[in-house]
Amino acid sequence: MNTIKRISPFFAVLIFASLACGLPAAPSAETQPTETAAQPSVQAEAGEAVLLFTIGIHIEPMGETAQGFSGGKGGDYHQPQFFERQAQDILTVAQLVESHGGHMTVQAQSPFTTVAIESGNTILANLAANGHEIALHFHEDAHMGKNSSALQPLDWCNVLKEEIGYITQATSSPQGGGVTDIRYWSGGNLYVDIYEAAECAGLDVNSDWKNPNTQSTDMSLTGVNPWRPAGGTDGTDFTLFTQNDPNGAIIFLPEGQYDKTDFAASRRSDEAGGDEAYFEYLKESLYASLAAAEPGKVNVFHFTVHPGEFRGDRQDPFGVIERFLAEVVDPLVASGDVQWATFSEMADAYAAIEQ
Ligand SMILES: [Zn+2]
Repeated sequence: MNTIKRISPFFAVLIFASLACGLPAAPSAETQPTETAAQPSVQAEAGEAVLLFTIGIHIEPMGETAQGFSGGKGGDYHQPQFFERQAQDILTVAQLVESHGGHMTVQAQSPFTTVAIESGNTILANLAANGHEIALHFHEDAHMGKNSSALQPLDWCNVLKEEIGYITQATSSPQGGGVTDIRYWSGGNLYVDIYEAAECAGLDVNSDWKNPNTQSTDMSLTGVNPWRPAGGTDGTDFTLFTQNDPNGAIIFLPEGQYDKTDFAASRRSDEAGGDEAYFEYLKESLYASLAAAEPGKVNVFHFTVHPGEFRGDRQDPFGVIERFLAEVVDPLVASGDVQWATFSEMADAYAAIEQ
């Protein structure tokens, strides 16, 4: 390690500042070798900006849910062939991410979870064992019916807990165990009291806000720095949502420095140019997020895939994701600009530095 003489006054001030708020002193850009990929822990460094990154996966409610509502169209997890095919897709993408040194946040709900329990399928347990975060994706209509917005936070809390319970059960082995620290969820976006309900259910990390009716994301929710929303939104008024409440129970992770409102849905639009164009846009947005990342802050970027999405042809399954990781992400991880982190790891990194 080089001596303090080689550290510029600017970095010395930053290091002092980091010591002052109880953080370990971060080596300056001058003395830090580019080996961030080998560092297991996620920390905001005072010397240079780091962008925390992962890929989330949403498992949709295909088929009748545990609560007896019918969910998404296009398949049914109660049909073994469909379940197996989607499970294989999830595993393939997860293994791809693992082979690039990363972990995903896999977000499940019934009937995927309940079918896994009934059929003894251990996919979620296996993913957890391999270091992926297991979390909740929650379509309120599929678990509470059309009238969910009129229900009380406690009603929501009970159903969130029920769905979390299935995840724990689906990650259990005959020896016991099971993931009990489910912290992250996506969904329930238009329910104003969602944060109250989520806190009641023991959840504390959220992201992927998208208006399910318009498939768009308000620009006020984009950016790279997490915060604790002072409240939810009805999809029109974002005042409380975008206001930081230091005592708020939930940490919201924006998706990154995206510059259009339909980024979360644009991959499904044929006019958008298909998978290649979508990943080109992700690359631009990742670079814009790097440019927006600030030293000493927690900066995050992520995007979402669904099982079967970006599958490509048989010769090149998920090639578009593989190329993105190999050509765009790997070099940035090697240089220390990007660090893999699950959503809960991102939230923990934020909680560690906020004042
Ligand atoms: Zn969904």
